[in-house]
Amino acid sequence: MFDGTMMGFPLSIGHLLERGRAIFPDSEVVSRGPDKRTRSQTYEQTYARSEKLARALGRLGVRPGDRIATLSWNHAQHLECYLGIPAMGAVVHTLNIRLPPSELAYITNHAEDVAVVVDRTLLPLFEKFRSELKTVKHILVVRDDGGPIEPPFLDYDALVDAETACPRAVGFTPPEGPFAATVDENQAAMICYTSGTTGNPKGVAYSHRSTILHAMVGSMRDMMGIGCDDVVLPVVPMFHAAAWGLPYMAYLNGAKLVFPGCHLDPESLLDLMVSQRVTLAAGVPTIWNGILAKLDAEPKRWDLSSVRTMIIGGSAAPASMIEGFEKRHGLVVTHAWGMTETNPLGTLARVVQKVRVRGEEAILSARASQGIPAAFVETRHVDDSGQILPWDGAKMGELEVRGPWVTRSYVSGEGTDRFTEDGWFKTGDIVTIDAEGYVRITDRSKDVIKSGGEWISSVALENALMAHPAVLEAAVFAGQHPKWGERPIAAIVWKPGQTAPESELAAHLAERFPKYWLPDHYVVIDQIPRNSTGKFLKSKLRDQYGDVLVAK
Ligand code: AMP
Repeated sequence: MFDGTMMGFPLSIGHLLERGRAIFPDSEVVSRGPDKRTRSQTYEQTYARSEKLARALGRLGVRPGDRIATLSWNHAQHLECYLGIPAMGAVVHTLNIRLPPSELAYITNHAEDVAVVVDRTLLPLFEKFRSELKTVKHILVVRDDGGPIEPPFLDYDALVDAETACPRAVGFTPPEGPFAATVDENQAAMICYTSGTTGNPKGVAYSHRSTILHAMVGSMRDMMGIGCDDVVLPVVPMFHAAAWGLPYMAYLNGAKLVFPGCHLDPESLLDLMVSQRVTLAAGVPTIWNGILAKLDAEPKRWDLSSVRTMIIGGSAAPASMIEGFEKRHGLVVTHAWGMTETNPLGTLARVVQKVRVRGEEAILSARASQGIPAAFVETRHVDDSGQILPWDGAKMGELEVRGPWVTRSYVSGEGTDRFTEDGWFKTGDIVTIDAEGYVRITDRSKDVIKSGGEWISSVALENALMAHPAVLEAAVFAGQHPKWGERPIAAIVWKPGQTAPESELAAHLAERFPKYWLPDHYVVIDQIPRNSTGKFLKSKLRDQYGDVLVAK
């Protein structure tokens, strides 16, 4: 063995703060409040406020390793928690405000959170589970709507303002105060819980190291490509999978951050994108579907010339949406795949040269795929018997991943069946992988449709249905069938004021798929049921309509 001579310098979130203060002190963090007014603070102020937050938490008795929950929208104080809590060696635990109160109580107790930071506007939700909390000693309330805060709640901003930040010399002077303790890079920085559609939610603890490596690779030019001249709008909530790591990616690079608060309707987001000259925005397909419909209705109203790309992930972005943004509005979509268990970025749909030269169709197909793996994320897919499948773009199997920001276990060792003996994580996504490494999700394993022994991709059918001009959204799920075991059923949501006969939808699909793939039945509904992270809840559709073919 011949060792390298380099320093064992820790990859820590504290360094992001130090770098922000020393190199990008004037970079901005803009937050929009419930009253839609924006306010701005600099990275230098963010440093001081994060340090004062850590000081205040220390005064309340918070020690390294302690977990602090947040129940908040996207805003500057949430960013201070993202930065200040890990930098003092404690762990920030984001609670998903869309979960039922009983699950929020379960998760807070499971993580043994000692304090909670909660938005004043979310207190009614918090009150629904406060009495069930077993470990929480302090409740800090962010006065997001400016209203009063009564005991036993503590006023977050008043606590921060009451502290004095360390006077700082120039450059990277060694930190004093709560950030002075050296943090081991393998220590937990943040805990996120999976959405738990099967069984209890399970915790994943991102380390400082995984968070920083993820931020570095995620901001590479051929990934999200984030630089100091960017204006980044994470629409994806900070309470879900670290807002895809965007706050850290932006902070690492000195980009301006714009937080939308609670107003996530298309018009409010478009106004914010225009007024802040946003260059990169990120969110789930539902958000972008609404924005596309708004832009189609009023194509000239918003000047989006500053926007370089919109990152779409969390569920499949249909090719028709990607094409619609580009062809009708000149806006570039970047499709990405990830999971809570992968910090969360796993793959991203950049077009490699080899595909680019093949022309428009190949390019769109690559951009509508879940993409190629990020550097240091390795992918493979396996069949039911665990056999590794070839990268032929055809054989479907469960995607498995490994890498420095893929979890190796869940908090408290639950869910061991999700990990293989040779060190891979089983994603539960059914995919194909092609010769260039592009991953295409065909289904979630629990949603697969097996008809007469053959797999039918519900995702492919949904994407094709959503390309029909009258369809706003479509979910395809398994119906029980006396002969074939299962057959596809399509749930359709029409665009306002539009419909089409069933035969037209069938003909539309028949152009693209073999006959046995075509749904046996269509149901028209007002809204596709969704889970807490905005994904289609097909179990609910199966419960409601799964036996219609038997009765037919
Ligand atoms: P979560 O842990 O809540 O973020 O959910 C992760 C799951 O979301 C993945 O396992 C996929 O099933 C789904 N998902 C995430 N991104 C995409 C995408 N781009 N296309 C299709 N499904 C996605």
